[in-house]
Amino acid sequence: MTTYSQILELRSTLNDYREKKKSIALVPTMGYLHDGHLSLIKKAKAENDIVVVSIFVNPTQFGPKEDFARYPRNIERDSELAKLSGCDILFIPSVEEMYPAGFSTYAVVENISTVLEGKFRPTHFKGVTTVVLKLLNIVQPQVAYFGQKDAQQCVVIRKMVTELNLHTEISIVPTLRESDGLAMSSRNVYLSPDERKNAVALNQSLRLAERLIHQGERNSETIINEMMKLIQSKNPTTIDYIEIVGTENLEKRTSIKSGDTILIPLAVRFGTTRLIDNTIITV
Ligand code: AMP
Repeated sequence: MTTYSQILELRSTLNDYREKKKSIALVPTMGYLHDGHLSLIKKAKAENDIVVVSIFVNPTQFGPKEDFARYPRNIERDSELAKLSGCDILFIPSVEEMYPAGFSTYAVVENISTVLEGKFRPTHFKGVTTVVLKLLNIVQPQVAYFGQKDAQQCVVIRKMVTELNLHTEISIVPTLRESDGLAMSSRNVYLSPDERKNAVALNQSLRLAERLIHQGERNSETIINEMMKLIQSKNPTTIDYIEIVGTENLEKRTSIKSGDTILIPLAVRFGTTRLIDNTIITV
């Protein structure tokens, strides 16, 4: 595994691989790798010759009051884990390398970036789409891998890739969970022992929604209320949202019809830690 911090050097190496007809995959991350990230890297390696993993805590996707400065970082451990999982090239650019002084060009996917997460984090997706577009242009991979854990991010990135005619296929990898069902996340380390126990309510509420729908419940408000009740019983600081939406346009569904595929995304705060999770259900 080779590590690069400079865009030009990375590009030159990737050009050599392209000349040798090697297929190139990209796994963008913010580091502090866990098994969820590693499942993306392993899948990328199983399906491609060369796997590039980027580690970049992207300042433009954090709001002014969010956790950019305290976001967990451990490059040494990440390098070891990435290498063991099949990463060939680790790309760890500095903020100045990605956003030189005077940087002022952004990619924005309108409408679907302003609902759900976008309501609570108004500048988040502008930062995400800009950094992902930059990474896709730098690496020019055949395939880029993203986790279903960040469901709205997947929808927004797919739309950007389609509408800007990018040459990369987007592959979505299922959410990896801890043994009690909590979705793996770099932010889970912020949770106190009590919050960690209570945070299992997120996954439990999603499984409850699945059960209710499979038992025939079709009213979104009823399902959401039951989910709210379950989470409220575990002392969350706030429930930012629980919604039932379409998987493509993220529009709210007040009722569910047979044959529908719906997404149930949620965001809940325990203490100062904001967690997101979701499930996709075909009725
Ligand atoms: P992050 O470092 O949080 O930006 O995540 C990098 C990539 O890993 C994103 O595509 C995430 O959706 C994905 N990811 C994060 N957590 C998980 C998980 N528990 N299971 C699968 N993929 C994940």
